[in-house]
Amino acid sequence: MEKEYYYSFNKYLKDIFGERVQRIPVDAGFTCPNRLNGQKGCIYCYQGSSYKEKLPLEKQIEKGIEFAKKRYKAKKFLVYFQSYTNTFDTIENLKRKYDLIKKYPEVVGIIIGTRPDCVNEDILNLINSYTDNYLVWIEYGLQSPHFKTLKWINRGHYFSDFLKALFLTKNKFPKINVCTHIILGFPTETKEEMLETAKILSTLPIDGIKIHPLHILKDTPLAEIYKKEKFPLFSLEEYADLVTDFIAYLPKNIVIQRVTGEAPEDILIAPSWCSFKEKMKVLNTIKKTFEKKGLYQGKYLESSENAFKK
Ligand code: SF4
Repeated sequence: MEKEYYYSFNKYLKDIFGERVQRIPVDAGFTCPNRLNGQKGCIYCYQGSSYKEKLPLEKQIEKGIEFAKKRYKAKKFLVYFQSYTNTFDTIENLKRKYDLIKKYPEVVGIIIGTRPDCVNEDILNLINSYTDNYLVWIEYGLQSPHFKTLKWINRGHYFSDFLKALFLTKNKFPKINVCTHIILGFPTETKEEMLETAKILSTLPIDGIKIHPLHILKDTPLAEIYKKEKFPLFSLEEYADLVTDFIAYLPKNIVIQRVTGEAPEDILIAPSWCSFKEKMKVLNTIKKTFEKKGLYQGKYLESSENAFKK
């Protein structure tokens, strides 16, 4: 059997359901408070027209299920409310949209992507109501715990907002699984600070993480900055070296839902290895780097001696 260097989402789902389970990403028509009322949004957020086909929510779910059945032979599905801020609406509207999953018996779970400053107890209570019959994940975008970075990317919230949302969720609604998103490669941070992010996260009650390399898309404020400043971006080898160390600092129970990020070639400015067509190469390079360095998830937490060495 092929060696696994980290606890992947596929493995986690197989452990629970005993078979392949496929995510169905949907755009439920929500907006984002960081892009309204004159706010410019996070500097890396794509502002061009969506490259996804816009269909009514039910049609998106049905089409996604049909595609995943054919392509992956999957029989079970998670509906992933992915685009923008999927808790930014009235409780009634949220419930109406989330409730659509009940129409499809093959749907076994729901994933809700949002900002940590866009939840409260009432919203979490609604999300928690699905945990009796479904696997439930909430994704809190964080990107970095470092104040200077969150300010530079115009994230519109700080690490304290993330901590507040995380502890409200885990203390009051422990059946909701929490995933967070991190971006590695901001020019505001040194590699040591990026690894510090992993060390901070290793102390928190998160259940999953998505790790992305910084990449620059057209029609973003970041593209303008990059044009002027041409700050350095990671090469694939540098990223693989960093992300393997990063994962070695994370406890083994955290599900690593993503180790890279990619975009369509026509909207990607740099680095070129973050295009969709390079994804397999990136995953293989990361795997080989784990192998070469003798690393795996949690390795640096195994002894305090290692922790002092890095
Ligand atoms: S929170 Fe998400 S949708 Fe909102 S501006 Fe930032 S990246 Fe864009």
